[in-house]
Amino acid sequence: MRTAVHGMPRIGPGRALKRALEGYWAGRVTADQLEETAASIRRQNWQTMVAAGIDFVPSNDFSLYDHVLDAAVLVGAVPPWFGGGGGGDRPGLEPYFALARGGEANGQPVAPLELTKWFDTNYHHLVPELGPGTDFRADGAKVVGELTEASEQGIATMPALLGPLTLLLRSSARPTGFDVLGLLDPLVDAYVDVLAELQRRGVRWVRLDEPSLVEERSAEELGALERAYRRLTERGDRPAIAISTFFGPVGEAMPVVRDLPVEGVGLDFCLGRENLDLLRDVGGLPDKVLFAGVVDGRNVWANDLEATLAELDRLEELARETVVSTSCSLLHVPLALSAEESLDPDVAPWLSFAHEKLEELAVLARASGEGRPSVDQALEANRAALRARRESARVVDPAVRQRVAALGEADPRRSSPYPERARAQQSALGLPRLPTTTIGSFPQTPELRTARAAWRAGRLDDAEYRRSLRHEIDRVVSLQEEVGLDVLVHGEPERDDMVRYFADQLTGFVLPAEGWVQSYGSRCVRPPVLYGDVSRPAPMTLEWTAYAQSRTTRPVKGMLTGPVTMLRWSFVRDDQSQAATTVQLALAIGDELVDLQAAGTAVIQVDEPALREGLPLRRADRPGYLAWATRAFRLVTSAAGPATQVHTHMCYAQLGDIVDALADLDIDVVSLEAARAGMGLLGDLVDARYRGGVGPGVYDVHSPTVPELDQLVALVGQAVETLGVERLWVNPDCGLK
Ligand code: GLN
Ligand code: ZN
Repeated sequence: MRTAVHGMPRIGPGRALKRALEGYWAGRVTADQLEETAASIRRQNWQTMVAAGIDFVPSNDFSLYDHVLDAAVLVGAVPPWFGGGGGGDRPGLEPYFALARGGEANGQPVAPLELTKWFDTNYHHLVPELGPGTDFRADGAKVVGELTEASEQGIATMPALLGPLTLLLRSSARPTGFDVLGLLDPLVDAYVDVLAELQRRGVRWVRLDEPSLVEERSAEELGALERAYRRLTERGDRPAIAISTFFGPVGEAMPVVRDLPVEGVGLDFCLGRENLDLLRDVGGLPDKVLFAGVVDGRNVWANDLEATLAELDRLEELARETVVSTSCSLLHVPLALSAEESLDPDVAPWLSFAHEKLEELAVLARASGEGRPSVDQALEANRAALRARRESARVVDPAVRQRVAALGEADPRRSSPYPERARAQQSALGLPRLPTTTIGSFPQTPELRTARAAWRAGRLDDAEYRRSLRHEIDRVVSLQEEVGLDVLVHGEPERDDMVRYFADQLTGFVLPAEGWVQSYGSRCVRPPVLYGDVSRPAPMTLEWTAYAQSRTTRPVKGMLTGPVTMLRWSFVRDDQSQAATTVQLALAIGDELVDLQAAGTAVIQVDEPALREGLPLRRADRPGYLAWATRAFRLVTSAAGPATQVHTHMCYAQLGDIVDALADLDIDVVSLEAARAGMGLLGDLVDARYRGGVGPGVYDVHSPTVPELDQLVALVGQAVETLGVERLWVNPDCGLK
């Protein structure tokens, strides 16, 4: 059996690319040095794959910023000032980064393209803009460059490109309402040119990624897919094409995919278990190569090799050839477990990062080709690790189980309905009209970072570290008093990350020290690994909130990260449902809420910025998700008495999909992102079931621009007009961090 990989993490060991990029942007690193770092990351990735025995080694999976932006450049879907294309020179870094981050081109300021989540992952891609003026032209400089680079190292690669349908569907129409699907034919012609060029350079196989097929697609869109791939394959001068889908099952698109005139099809059998039955139902792919995505690119658990081998046995009968493959790019997992020097030794053997996943692919291929005995030792080690995980006393906590069982199907709610609570809160808090507040964090100052680093390294003792945190709290509390805010925050100086901070103090988590995963551009996160039952041994935030409250007579808002966000921004256990895991998280976070309330915290915010991104890709699955997600949230907050004001915060403006869920959270106040979209989301709220307070952000904290006072006043005025003054709060868009 042959093996294939979609792509490798591109941030490099020790986040080498981040350092090079940020150095380049700051003028400390030259373009040549940046290119050198990038080339060395690509070389290391290729060599690691070759050493592991991978047959289909990808190229063009690397990106200096984002693969969707690269695809837009590939087909010339860029503004006229961009340059390049049409056989000209490769465009420089300046226009590329200007599109990504904003900047200048020909002396004119350039606004960056919008960022949005790459399907249901925490990776953000840039959104190309397409309109009547879009003039597609193939610009193969990057894909050919990386192909040549690899072949000079003696490595034949399979170039990876974003497919034409997904590129159109992930782009935005300018002006809105413009029919982007109408651009399919000229777009495909640009791809035809790229494929011909790759063919001339000896490429045998190319991969076209079409993850859009795992969402529901209309008959028109599926028709467009057929037309695109017919046009793409008509000419003979092209490599073999594998169309790749991932992040779920392809559903009703399976018969269409089966009949496409391509040579290979990639399916995800990790997040798309249903693909096996779907494939059977259409009689398999007798004339195609199946790239079977059986090694999970979205999670970090060691593969169950025996189970996967059994699955591969079944799949082998369903295609002309079955290739053992990752389920998607490994960009969504950290680079190498071997980089973890201090990871919990019990848990480490249960995990598999990108490098370890390459080994898994190799073992699976060898076992199916040469028989199980040829990889006896690897299989035995895998069995032992899985057994240890299954039987570990650290995974199951009987006390947590009992607590969850006692809950049964109960659907906890606040003890009184919103109007009553609002009265109780008003008499307790006595807030003015249009109360002002912030979202929680203040900037992490250099002093704080230095103190935390010294404390972690053991150079600063607990007492001194705490003193520096209290000092910072004093500073932000008096700042807020001076400014005249109504509901204060303590500023979250103790948190460098809103998920890791809590994960570090809950049971059931380990925190990989080097487990960086790209979020966008040079930005990376280190998701905690949630391996076992979750509980809260001791208060996590109480000390800081209580201290802040002791320094002021105004209410200080307690600040917690919600259970759905804890789940979404971690790598979570796969041995129970996400719903079950979220209940445990909710009970643990709820314990903190109870303590905060008992200590006199009258306003408590439970942040759920990830609630919306958790929406399943298929609409049919959404109501089920929203039901358990909102119940988990209510499990946290149901203990809040009528006079305790519960806030939540969500940082996105597209509320439409979840506006109903807002009512089901049973909260008192929500703060939202709204400034950038000019309060556009308020329309969704006018007729919504949700009747509580609303703080549409009036200050876009993600932009370096300082707004004029009259702009802010205008936004507040607009909000008052739409929602009425009684429900409104005034606050920024997101944390000031
Ligand atoms: N309370 C958090 C903060 O202010 C919320 C962060 C977020 O919305 N992502 O930083
Ligand atoms: Zn936010």
